Amino acid sequence: MEWSNWAGNQLMDPVRVVKPRSVDEIAGAVKQAAADGLRVKAIGSGHSFTAIGLTNGVLLDMSAYNGLVSADPTTGLVTAQAGLPLHRLNALLPEHGLGLTNMGDVDVQTVSGAVSTGTHGTGRDSAGFAAQIAGLELVLADGSVVMCSATERPELFAAARVGLGALGVISTVTFQAEKAFVLEADERPMPLDDVLDGFFDLVAANEHFEFYWFPHTDIALTKRNNRTDAEVKPLSKAKAFIDDELLSNGVFELTCRLGRRMPTVIPRINKVAARALTARTYIDAAPKVFTSPRRVRFCEMEYAVPREALPDLFRELRSLPDRHGLKVSFPVEVRVAPADDATLSTAFGRDTAYIAVHMFKGSAYDPYFRAVEKLYDAVGGRPHWGKLHTLEAEQLRARYPRFDEFVALRDSLDPERRFGNAYLERVLG
Ligand SMILES: Cc1cc2nc3c(=O)[nH]c(=O)nc-3n(C[C@H](O)[C@H](O)[C@H](O)COP(=O)(O)OP(=O)(O)OC[C@H]3O[C@@H](n4cnc5c(N)ncnc54)[C@H](O)[C@@H]3O)c2cc1C
Repeated sequence: MEWSNWAGNQLMDPVRVVKPRSVDEIAGAVKQAAADGLRVKAIGSGHSFTAIGLTNGVLLDMSAYNGLVSADPTTGLVTAQAGLPLHRLNALLPEHGLGLTNMGDVDVQTVSGAVSTGTHGTGRDSAGFAAQIAGLELVLADGSVVMCSATERPELFAAARVGLGALGVISTVTFQAEKAFVLEADERPMPLDDVLDGFFDLVAANEHFEFYWFPHTDIALTKRNNRTDAEVKPLSKAKAFIDDELLSNGVFELTCRLGRRMPTVIPRINKVAARALTARTYIDAAPKVFTSPRRVRFCEMEYAVPREALPDLFRELRSLPDRHGLKVSFPVEVRVAPADDATLSTAFGRDTAYIAVHMFKGSAYDPYFRAVEKLYDAVGGRPHWGKLHTLEAEQLRARYPRFDEFVALRDSLDPERRFGNAYLERVLG
């Protein structure tokens, strides 16, 4: 069976695929792989752009291990099986009066896949998934099943919250959720200069601030999401269809295709698109505001940089496509997160800003991504583990203060590299 990720840039052909339905079946599959001398890799929804999920051994397809184990409205603790997709978790939690504190742009990832690469959204006070986890259950390389939390095997808990699939197979994730809440979304275009000049104020004034800059223009679309007690007032079906389906997906796909065939038209298309941006506000359940459908396929690179470096770095980045003669149709996305304490979290120990660059599927992304990536060296940028980058273990060691602790833990838990693959060899050594 040939497997491909969502973006279509990673392929694998494992020796066999196992679809576990219980923790015993996960442990059995790991032990059998060891007996056969094969490596093992669990896979989620295939939404990573890097080769992090590839194996030439046994592929554990987690999609059948997908239940909600428990949700406690009093404590907010929610335990989900590894293969539960976030959109189903988001649909189930309101029945218990609960919701996740923060999430990324899309909700198609599995809980274990999202956790494993350090998936995040944007938040002034609330961080990525790594900071929302209260406990994990893992199957280790010897087939044993262990729990970890802040009080139980805390060293494993610190590492496995962004575990890169390198420490074991996650069987369940326990989130610290909270009472379901509603967000007021305020989206409006602004001159990019104003956004950069006022960046820290915009972040400070909003619970969830982000912006998208349209390359080859001076315009950014800003998004401010804040909690409210007001009544839900969603976008009308027609407006949601026009904005989120037609413009963000249907028309965007067509203009991306045109731009891929005739790159010289891209700056003009972006100028028209940026001028067409209008303001909108709506109020809806948090998961509906945090996430939106993404049907146009692309490749992506995202780096985490120290928050204070963002405005100056972005001023350099904005001139880069034109300086290098690159035509870029996709907006550049900027988000933030507070410092967290998961060993290999991109926000470990520092307030962070994220910069994500994208290229339409089938367009050469290398020249653009490599040019942008160079900007991050000077500020110790940390790449998203699931998004394209070229860094290797030695460079990453210098960017993560506790890198060696992660590596040592991996050495002790998986000395034979049962969960290894080429990507992990590159980034962990
Ligand atoms: C359209 C799109 C939008 C995105 N938006 C965001 C965003 O807003 N923010 C963000 O941070 N990222 C974002 N991403 C990246 C995405 O969230 C991550 O790559 C995430 O890891 C994908 O989850 P998945 O379930 O598809 O996992 P996969 O890509 O299938 O797997 C990711 C890694 O997790 C490991 N893994 C999966 N399950 C287990 C398990 N049970 N035990 C151990 N290891 C396991 C895999 O082996 C692999 O190493 C986006 C990606 C796409 C394509």
